[in-house]
Amino acid sequence: MKILKLTAANDRILRKKCRRLTKTEIMSAKVQSLIDDIKYTCDKKKMGVGLSANQVGESIAISVIAIKPTPGRPNLEVFDKVCINTEIIETFGKKQPMWEGCQSTVVDENGQPAMAKVPRFTKIRIKYLDRNGDEQDEIIEGFVAHVIQHETDHLNGVLFTDLINEVDLVSYKEFARQSKLLTNNVHKEK
Ligand SMILES: [Zn+2]
Repeated sequence: MKILKLTAANDRILRKKCRRLTKTEIMSAKVQSLIDDIKYTCDKKKMGVGLSANQVGESIAISVIAIKPTPGRPNLEVFDKVCINTEIIETFGKKQPMWEGCQSTVVDENGQPAMAKVPRFTKIRIKYLDRNGDEQDEIIEGFVAHVIQHETDHLNGVLFTDLINEVDLVSYKEFARQSKLLTNNVHKEK
């Protein structure tokens, strides 16, 4: 497995709708090893909580969701899934703002993402293919729902900065301060 290079923030690939995959394509050695490499990259680079294929230069509809507790977010539950051809087929209730950032969008000189509170649904129903090409239909809530909306936007060429006003972006440091994190924990998280 290898660490993949992230697509540059201004790369047009991030703005293109990703191509959906067939079950046969998903089962191919090429796609399976890309999935492993994306998971490995997420893990080794401690990159946020999810990464989609177009963020590493492949315009195909794969998102890896890899959530685990970190020093900055100690209460997170582990959620480790590969979502392919993801579609949000139902939303529940109102949107609520939650902090998010993106390694492909605005990153400071230390590689820390700018953050903003983005309103998203707290409960969604999604349909996707897993890494075996099997169809899944699930109701997802809370933080995971927020992350999946961010990653599914990536598959459609949408970035989180499209959903906010630029003035609402804050540095990671400021986000940490506002969320009352200790600075040294934040550095460890990165
Ligand atoms: Zn992102």
